[in-house]
Amino acid sequence: MIVVGAGQAGQQICDSLRKGGYDGHLMLLGDEPCLPYQRPPLSKKFLTGGLEAERLLLRPASWYEQQRIDVHLDTRVERIDRAACRLRLASGEALTYSGLALATGTRVRPVTVPGADAAGIHYVRSLADGQSLAAALSGARRVAVIGGGFIGLEVAAIAREQGREVVLIEALERLMARAVAPQVSAFYAALHRAHGVEVLLGTGVDAIRSAQGEHTLVTSSGAEYTVDLIVAGIGVVPNSELAEQAGLECRNGIVVDDCARTSDPLIVAAGDCTWHMNGFLKREIRLESVQNAVDQAKAAAASLLGQSAVYCQVPWFWSDQYDVKLQIAGIGMPHDQAVVRGDAASHAFSVFYFRAGTLVGVDSLNKPAEHMAARKLLAQGTPLSAAQAGDLGVDLMQVARGA
Ligand SMILES: Cc1cc2nc3c(=O)[nH]c(=O)nc-3n(C[C@H](O)[C@H](O)[C@H](O)COP(=O)(O)OP(=O)(O)OC[C@H]3O[C@@H](n4cnc5c(N)ncnc54)[C@H](O)[C@@H]3O)c2cc1C
Repeated sequence: MIVVGAGQAGQQICDSLRKGGYDGHLMLLGDEPCLPYQRPPLSKKFLTGGLEAERLLLRPASWYEQQRIDVHLDTRVERIDRAACRLRLASGEALTYSGLALATGTRVRPVTVPGADAAGIHYVRSLADGQSLAAALSGARRVAVIGGGFIGLEVAAIAREQGREVVLIEALERLMARAVAPQVSAFYAALHRAHGVEVLLGTGVDAIRSAQGEHTLVTSSGAEYTVDLIVAGIGVVPNSELAEQAGLECRNGIVVDDCARTSDPLIVAAGDCTWHMNGFLKREIRLESVQNAVDQAKAAAASLLGQSAVYCQVPWFWSDQYDVKLQIAGIGMPHDQAVVRGDAASHAFSVFYFRAGTLVGVDSLNKPAEHMAARKLLAQGTPLSAAQAGDLGVDLMQVARGA
């Protein structure tokens, strides 16, 4: 069997195939030069220089040897010939498969305004990106971050903690708008401003002029900001071209069912690259999270082994900014009611999202116990009213336990 994409999902598929009893030849092909690693620290602690690259590895090299996984790094798969069950590599080599898993992830969406190329904008997707940004940050005085999503905000927080001047430019009217309620966006705007970040909302970047190591960003309001480092986090694009060329169904990612099966019975897909039927949400979605990559990979491995393990887990995600840990359970967007539990001023509160009276997601800020209770409530489908959610006298874990 062959797994394409040596990332979070690819490593998990290999692990689950072996744990599931697959004893045959197993190949893991990845186009990066390193073994599968964790990406989340790349926009967080790794940028401070306080974390060795080796610490990011999901498993040491010895694990792949013990598991008899034939790992090929710096190896890009260029084509799938489904009729012949054959892969063509960039090197020209061909490999045949009896079962194939695609775990190709995503790539960053580039900034395309005039001057963006010359500005040498930093992005954060790969270990190489993280290393080059960490080095650039250490010598930067003034930093512009384009994009007020999770990655942009995490980078802004680190840069600010390092004492750099930071301007953050977000085109929408609020931060993390795709993922959280206005209350949470407002909290984060205030948090970053309190730490000295200049947060510009509803503001685009129209052009960038670069000269002698300095970059001037011209915003949609006509203002100009001169910085010595630009970082962008404006979203990602699924790596689905390989699947598209092979004639597999694709729609904002590789289309898979709730067992991670593509439209070809010999091919599964998992992780950020999939547009999938989500067993928990009961709708199609593309998710970008470690939880999704890991849990969907387990379903994908089961399908390759001829079993059908429906992927049906509560989505969860986290983000670290300054001393605030945001933990998200479920999918709160869209919702028709958002209930704040606790006091935002204390930097420890949760927002419970309801759709037609049903709890659909919870954001917890510095509230790990509420996050765990929320995951349990959501997983069990335990009814919770908006009144209960907002009442600090109600012990949510007890509700989840049915006590
Ligand atoms: C900076 C950053 C911070 C993040 N923070 C969080 C967080 O706090 N919490 C959270 O839950 N998630 C976070 N994520 C998201 C999380 O890392 C991803 O959801 C997860 O890595 C997805 O795993 P994957 O295996 O689908 O894709 P990836 O880990 O991206 O792996 C895909 C691999 O496939 C390779 N590949 C692609 N095409 C080919 C090809 N044709 N041939 C060979 N190889 C190929 C790619 O180069 C890549 O190595 C973060 C991501 C980033 C980038």
